[in-house]
Amino acid sequence: RIAYLCGMLTKEIQSAVEKGAMLPLMEEFYTIQGEGFHTGTAAYFIRIGGCDVGCHWCDVKESWNADLHPPTNVDQIVANARQYADTVVITGGEPLTWDMTLLTAKLKEQHMRIHIETSGAYPLTGTWDWICLSPKKTKLPTQTVYDKADELKVIIYNKHDFVFAEEQAQKVNPNAILFLQPEWSKKEEMTPLIVDYVMNNPKWRVSLQTHKYLNIP
Ligand code: SF4
Repeated sequence: RIAYLCGMLTKEIQSAVEKGAMLPLMEEFYTIQGEGFHTGTAAYFIRIGGCDVGCHWCDVKESWNADLHPPTNVDQIVANARQYADTVVITGGEPLTWDMTLLTAKLKEQHMRIHIETSGAYPLTGTWDWICLSPKKTKLPTQTVYDKADELKVIIYNKHDFVFAEEQAQKVNPNAILFLQPEWSKKEEMTPLIVDYVMNNPKWRVSLQTHKYLNIP
């Protein structure tokens, strides 16, 4: 009977996750946005587990397996965030693995500003005040995310990534603000190249992972 009840419960949780009523929450924390357009501003970060994009340099590989992160009711996630900040950043993992409709609706009920950091690998769900698209070669963005992105942030790991960045800039909507950001382990090598590139191609801006320099999460 206990096994039967556990089975029922597991199915209910799976169904809630499929509907976006529960999400595999990896961590949440109040900090300073370190990267991109909103660098330097306070925000509550909500990191949702689950990602199959597979970047070899990923610095949150422990996010990949969603099963390691507890399915958490979105009401609880919203209540936690509301205590700390007016702006939340939904990140991952790849948050668009999941249906973001319910989470963003409930955050909006609380009059919060909602940002997302996404690779764009899955179609856009949810309602967003700011979409940061960081495309990855291993799983290219869907058209919905190219169309709606407010900023395009391309990670530069090697010289070929400048070519990739230009290809992505062609695909994103023309209003998106364009950033090049050195991958952290390659920053000594790549940052000077990015500086030169931006000076020669001023439609781009430099983004740095300033939270890592500040030694904050
Ligand atoms: Fe890691 Fe993000 Fe790439 Fe997923 S998309 S593997 S979370 S860097």
